[in-house]
Amino acid sequence: MNLQKLVRTNIYALKPYSCARDEFKGEASVYLDANENPMNAPYNRYPDPLQWKLKEKIAKIKHVCPDQIMLGNGSDEPIDLVFRVFCEPEEDNVVAIEPTYGMYKVCADINNVEYRKALLNDDFTLDADRVLAAVNAKTKVVFLCSPNNPSGNLLNRSEMLKIVENFDGIVVIDEAYVDFSSEKSWLEELSNYPNIIILQTFSKAWGLASVRCGMAFASPEIITYFNKVKYPYNINLLTQNFVSEQLDHEARKNEWVKMLLEQRDYLEKELKKLPFVEKIYPTDANFLLVKVQDANAAYHELVSKGIIVRNRNQVSLCRGGLRITVGTAEENRTLIAELRKMF
Ligand SMILES: *Cc1c(COP(=O)(O)O)cnc(C)c1O
Repeated sequence: MNLQKLVRTNIYALKPYSCARDEFKGEASVYLDANENPMNAPYNRYPDPLQWKLKEKIAKIKHVCPDQIMLGNGSDEPIDLVFRVFCEPEEDNVVAIEPTYGMYKVCADINNVEYRKALLNDDFTLDADRVLAAVNAKTKVVFLCSPNNPSGNLLNRSEMLKIVENFDGIVVIDEAYVDFSSEKSWLEELSNYPNIIILQTFSKAWGLASVRCGMAFASPEIITYFNKVKYPYNINLLTQNFVSEQLDHEARKNEWVKMLLEQRDYLEKELKKLPFVEKIYPTDANFLLVKVQDANAAYHELVSKGIIVRNRNQVSLCRGGLRITVGTAEENRTLIAELRKMF
């Protein structure tokens, strides 16, 4: 893969902003270089723009090198950076599976980049040839999401591999739900495929959606371009410290995942008994896509009971679909009790 050919020419040539923290890196006793207020430590100082301490901790848990990590304001930031680094507006395009996570299309539209949809099969399985057929000479990026949102299923690994090996560009593999999945992450393939970018997040299994911290894993070369383009201090010190502390509780995260998977089984079992439930799609995530007789009616009826699920009725291949997040045992019982009363 020729990375220089894939990166936009202005980004390739970009001389990034050099901040005080970039120019002097060691330890010193008197810092008079950044126009900071000397009072109110430690928040008076600009944070580490590359968050090395936090990345070293993440690297250990994920078995990667710190220079293969970029941290962003949620996964949304690296998704946007993919467009800004690789896609020339009004010229290049990206291909994504359909249906999938909505932010890829929003970021394409914001960046004025053509977004091409490659339909999944009716059962949401991946057809690599259909994705590759949507690719042309101007395609810079393919977006895959596994487990996929809103369908919940894992994409077939060998079909994904076919795309990774045959597409001459960047393949983004969004693994936001990987902690709930029965299959292993693509992270261990990172060094074998210099064209993949793997996205993970603290927003789901780690229970930190409000903190806004997402991870992109890629070759050190790709990470260098992300670092050039991102805001210098994109992760504030409060977030760096807090996420670092939360990483000490990985066992607690694993307990939550275990509980949620048990609750997912409960929901599936109880939903199956309801006469208006037509289908429950296989899931490897912390949610279920359920096909019901009248999704709009069911959605509004639930809203009137104070229960909010995601109505996916208008989404491709999802007619009649409600996406239900797995909650606590009590929340799930409440949902089932209301559904039993409804129809
Ligand atoms: C929830 C989700 C994310 C996470 O986004 P954050 O910005 O990290 O909160 C990413 N990708 C998919 C497919 C998701 O469903």
